[in-house]
Amino acid sequence: MNCIFCNIANQDNKNKKNWVFETENCCCFPDIDPKAPVHLLLIPKIHITSLQDIKNNNIEFINDMFLSIPKITEKLGLKSYRLISNIGESAGQSVMHLHFHILGGRKFDWPPG
Ligand code: 5GP
Ligand code: ZN
Repeated sequence: MNCIFCNIANQDNKNKKNWVFETENCCCFPDIDPKAPVHLLLIPKIHITSLQDIKNNNIEFINDMFLSIPKITEKLGLKSYRLISNIGESAGQSVMHLHFHILGGRKFDWPPG
């Protein structure tokens, strides 16, 4: 399968220099096209298409991602931030590998567009 985020998750150590956080199950790195002063992507190291595809056999990856979020934001000193996961094309998902956007460093509108 040719998936950009699988390729990122499995790349060589020398290409991981911009990663801000990593566990055995997930990794976090800056979005290539940031929409806020802080815009990170948190992804599982295995291919899961979206949150819609959580199963008992991949729940440890999801657990690890959720437990990583406060560690990442604490590390960055982000007291307020927005966590987004777009699921499916109408919601704006463009990469079909589960990811959380962690956005911070500015004020965000509600509701989102
Ligand atoms: P989505 O639109 O699926 O919710 O989010 C996908 C995100 O991945 C977008 O914000 C896009 O800028 C980002 N993205 C796409 N390709 C790459 C890439 O090769 N590297 C990084 N770091 N981000 C990417
Ligand atoms: Zn993938």
